Amino acid sequence: MDMQPVPENASPLSGLFAEAWQRISTRMKSEVGEVEYRTWLRQITLGPLDGDEITLFLPTRFLRDWVRGQYGDRLSALWSAEIPSVRRVELQVFRPAEEGAASAAGEAAPAAETSGPSAAVERPVPERALPDRSSDPRHDLSAPLDPRFTFDSFVVGKPNEFAYACARRVAEKPASPGFNPLFLYGGVGLGKTHLMHAIGAQLTGEGRNSVAYMSAEKFMYRFIGAIRTQSTMEFKEQLRSVDVLMIDDLQFLIGKDNTQEEFFHTFNALVDAGRQIIVSADKSPSDLSGLEDRLRTRLGCGMVADIHATTFELRISILEAKAQASGVTVPAKVLEFLAHKITGNVRELEGALNRLIAHANLFGRPVTLESTHDVLHDILKAHDRRVTIEEIQKKVAEHWNIRLTDMSSARRARAVARPRQVAMYLAKQLTSRSLPEIGRKFGNRDHTTVMHAVSRVAELMERDAAFAEDVELMRRMLES
Ligand code: ADP
Ligand code: MG
Repeated sequence: MDMQPVPENASPLSGLFAEAWQRISTRMKSEVGEVEYRTWLRQITLGPLDGDEITLFLPTRFLRDWVRGQYGDRLSALWSAEIPSVRRVELQVFRPAEEGAASAAGEAAPAAETSGPSAAVERPVPERALPDRSSDPRHDLSAPLDPRFTFDSFVVGKPNEFAYACARRVAEKPASPGFNPLFLYGGVGLGKTHLMHAIGAQLTGEGRNSVAYMSAEKFMYRFIGAIRTQSTMEFKEQLRSVDVLMIDDLQFLIGKDNTQEEFFHTFNALVDAGRQIIVSADKSPSDLSGLEDRLRTRLGCGMVADIHATTFELRISILEAKAQASGVTVPAKVLEFLAHKITGNVRELEGALNRLIAHANLFGRPVTLESTHDVLHDILKAHDRRVTIEEIQKKVAEHWNIRLTDMSSARRARAVARPRQVAMYLAKQLTSRSLPEIGRKFGNRDHTTVMHAVSRVAELMERDAAFAEDVELMRRMLES
C-alpha cells in the first residue's frame, strides 16, 4: 500500500507506544466493561505520533464522533499518564486497508517508504469522504494551537534568543521583507513548535489574520486525501486563502515528491500574495538533503534561525520558570540536579519536572533531592550513561589537542592542566566513580586534586560562557 501512518522518527519509539497503547486499552476495557469496549473501542488503531499529539484511527465517522464524545477526555488522560509528552489525542477516520485499497491506489500518491511501520499499527487508508462543509474550512485546515505555547511562557536564553527574536518580529509584522519565509530549525524538543504556536496565538488573537498551522505530515495526509476525494482544488483554495501558513517538521516531506511539489506551489502563491510562511525542520534548508532544490532555495530566501541545544544555564531558567508556574516549591538543588542529569531536550526536562510536581501534589510532600531520586528512578537510569574515564580522557585530549599521556603526566602547564581538569570534571559528572577512583586514573592523583578540579571547572563555566559551551559540547559528545 501507499500509506505509512508512522513517521520514520517514531519507529524507535513505536515499541514503547504500542506497549503504552496496550495498557491503555486494557485499562479502558476494565473501566467500561467488555461489551461497551467491544462495541466502541476495540476498533481503534494506533496512528502516528506527531510532536505531542497521538493520532488514533477509527473506521467510520460515526464511531469516531461517538468515541470522541464519550471517551475522548479519558483517552487523553490515560495517554498523558502513560507518556507525559503526549498532550493531545486526535481521533481520525480511516478505513482498514482491504476495503479502500481498490479505489485508493492513486498514481499521485507518494511512493512507499522503505522502512516499515510498527507491527502494532495497521496501515489505514483515508475514508473517501468530503470534509465537513458545515464548519469553516479554515478552521478545519489548521490544527489547534496549544494555549500554553505563548511568548510569555517561552524562556529565552543564548541558544534560542535569535529564533525567539525572529518569531516575535514575524508575529508583530507578518510578511515583512527579509522575514518571509521564517525558517526555524533545531533538534527535537527545543521549542520550534512552541514558537510557531506563539506566533499563531498572537496573530489570531488580534483577530486580523487567519492562520493555518499543521505538521508537514498532516499537510501530506490532507493533500493525499484531497487527491482521493478529487477535491484538490478546494484544498488548494483553502490553503491559499490564509494570511499565515505554518508547516511544522518539514523534514517529513523528504522523499514525498508530489507533496513537496504541491507545497512549493502553495508557498509561491502565498508569498506572491504577500502572506507569511513559517516553516520548521530539524535541519537547515541546505542540510535537508532530499528536498527538491528549488524548494530548498526558496526556503532559505527569508530568515533562517536555528535553535541550539540547551545550555545548563537555560535548562535551569526553564526549570525555574516551570516550577514557579506550578506553585510547587522545588529546591534549587533539585533543579540543578535535573539540569545536570537531563541534558537532552526541553521536553524531557519538562516531563521529569512535571512528574515531580504531580507527585508532590498527590502526596502533599515537599520535593527533596531524595524524593527526586525515587520518583524519577526510571528516567534517571535511562540517563545514566556508561561512559568510561578512558573515553573521557581520549575525547578531551583530542578536543584540546594534547597528548593522551598528559592526562596522567605531572605537567602543570595550563595548556595541559586545564583539559585535565575538564576531564576530571566530566568523569565526576558522567560516571559513578568516586573521587579517589578518578584520581587514580589521572596518574594517581589525590582525591582532593580531583575535588579541586571539579569545583574549578564549575566556577570557570559560570564565568566564561565560551568555556561552558565547550564543556557542554564535550559532555554531549560523550553522552551520545
Ligand atoms: P520542538 O517542536 O522543537 O520539538 P517543542 O516546541 O514541542 O519542541 O517543545 C517541547 C516542549 O518544551 C514544549 O512543552 C515546550 O513548551 C517546551 N519548551 C521548549 N523550549 C522552551 C523554552 N525556551 N521555554 C519554555 N518551554 C520550552
Ligand atoms: Mg515540534
